[in-house]
Amino acid sequence: MGPVLNGLMKLQSVENRLRAEKAKLNRCRRNVIIQENLIRNLQSALEAKKEEAQLTKVQFDRLELELKSREETIAKLRTSLNSAKTNKEYAALLTQLNTTKADNSKIESQSLDLLKDIETDETECKDILKQIEEQKQTLEQTRKDSEALVIKYQANIDEIQAEWNQIAQDVPRNPLEIFKRVAETYDGLAVTFVEQQQGRDGVYSCGGCFMGLPAESVNMLMTKDEIIRCPNCTRILVIDETQISC
Ligand SMILES: [Zn+2]
Repeated sequence: MGPVLNGLMKLQSVENRLRAEKAKLNRCRRNVIIQENLIRNLQSALEAKKEEAQLTKVQFDRLELELKSREETIAKLRTSLNSAKTNKEYAALLTQLNTTKADNSKIESQSLDLLKDIETDETECKDILKQIEEQKQTLEQTRKDSEALVIKYQANIDEIQAEWNQIAQDVPRNPLEIFKRVAETYDGLAVTFVEQQQGRDGVYSCGGCFMGLPAESVNMLMTKDEIIRCPNCTRILVIDETQISC
């Protein structure tokens, strides 16, 4: 292989390291974002729970008011009962009194249920608050850890990028542009080895997509320092001369 393909192979090896380091940097930043999102979600859950508790409280207060006014009705009915003039009037008042009492005990039990709901909501609010506090501490620690790591990874990236630029200087413009384009398509993997099927001379495949390659492409690679791309995936093909025999 001549200087062009050799240059591209070297570039590929540096590109791999560059992408790996960038991936570490992104993971590091993503960890912080994930933790921040967790806190945001917990805060939304807390707001929702508080609102729910507030609504239940309003409902509870309304029932308490209703009960109070019904107690007054009962007191009035009792007075009327004592001054009833006829049996019929007495019976009617008694029925009304009993119905009101029965309704009241229903409302009382509803109101007790609401009280329980409020207590549950309040406990859950406290629980979420505790989780938020814990999560904030975890976030702080993650931030501290990642700040140091980001500096380290960025320094590595700068160093590898400089190495990349140095090698790229020796690669002619056109092959370099092809390399960059294919690298973008395949997450950095622009250059791939030609593979030879075991025990079968002259039968080759692309190391990137594993599709068969015409023998003349491989012969061309053996003799010329030119870019030959896989007809299927368009990756740049190179030959590992220790593995391939024609
Ligand atoms: Zn291919």
